Amino acid sequence: MPHLTEPLEPGATIGIVGGGQLGRMMALSAKYRGFRVGVLDPTADCPTGQVADFQITADYDDRAALADLAARSDVLTYEFENVDAEALDEVSGAVAIPQGTDLLRVTQDRVREKTFINSHGIETATWQSVSSVSELRTALAKIGLPAVVKTTRGGYDGHGQLVVRSEEDLAGLDDSDFPPSIVEGFVDFAYEASILVSGNGSEFVTFPIVRNVHKNNILHLSLAPAQVSDETARTATHLALQLAEGFALAGTLAIELFVRADGSVVVNELAPRPHNSGHYTIEACSMDQFDAHIRGIAGWPLPQPQLLSSAVMVNVLGQHVEAVRATRALHPEWSVHDYGKAAAKRNRKMGHITVLGPDPEKIAAELEATGIWSDLA
Ligand code: AMP
Repeated sequence: MPHLTEPLEPGATIGIVGGGQLGRMMALSAKYRGFRVGVLDPTADCPTGQVADFQITADYDDRAALADLAARSDVLTYEFENVDAEALDEVSGAVAIPQGTDLLRVTQDRVREKTFINSHGIETATWQSVSSVSELRTALAKIGLPAVVKTTRGGYDGHGQLVVRSEEDLAGLDDSDFPPSIVEGFVDFAYEASILVSGNGSEFVTFPIVRNVHKNNILHLSLAPAQVSDETARTATHLALQLAEGFALAGTLAIELFVRADGSVVVNELAPRPHNSGHYTIEACSMDQFDAHIRGIAGWPLPQPQLLSSAVMVNVLGQHVEAVRATRALHPEWSVHDYGKAAAKRNRKMGHITVLGPDPEKIAAELEATGIWSDLA
């Protein structure tokens, strides 16, 4: 029973696999709609567990625990893409999984993902899959340098990636320790962007395209909306809707983009869930990405989200927490979100701030001028 036959009614239980900040914000949206929420996460009192009705504290790959969550839920969803699709298929007799597991299988494997995107006539970087150093060399001869090598599975925030600018960058590579990978041509982008699309299986709605600034491979700022031509915005919206239809999407999907100086758009990767670059929607849109996710998996109708104000979102990493708290009195206009994580480790996403206003570039400059984020050179 992967799909719901009837829309989910308040009082029903949504089970979330993964208990971080994305699960927490999904859970909060679910509570607004009157749903109950259960979460599976190995860390007791995790960010989602703090706001859910119940937590099952066990590893994500603990099949008995997943079966327990399925048995206690009417619908299952996930907050990250590295969930075992087979394990989810196993419990799909007991619980609806409106997102299905094909979406997971595609987005957790870069070869499948790029193939899916290209099969819809949508541009990605030139790419080839490689499984040995000699295959990599042959592919590089064709694709050219610079290029980016990424593990086919399991990479995130730049982990599992190697930028190859010259022959010397291949020196440390060895076949005995070479995971299945893809090699991509380097995209000479003007900036990075993303667009969110949400669906309920048959209706799809998009959010505005936003510009993203990364530091050390971690998202730092999102500026909404991106200052792009109408043509670029239309292209991004169109490809988002094509992908959503291709997946018969239920819930929210994030599409990471490269935008070239000429305004053309290349898809980098997909995330089958709400996304860090969409947190601004909580304050800035008439329906946020978490509400859209919950409504979508519940089979509810989806209104077209309206951007009520332009906005900037900045991430608060472990090293920024104290300074943000110390400036509370100075910036009452900041919407500060704290994920309730116990330990403020360096580079760990602890929260985020959204600032509304007519000029995102100016807001971003004012945020930088506080010096709080000066470690992110
Ligand atoms: P990813 O894990 O695929 O999102 O890549 C992490 C970051 O590496 C991206 O946000 C880009 O800044 C950079 N990157 C990845 N792939 C490419 C590419 N083909 N060309 C240029 N930059 C890239």
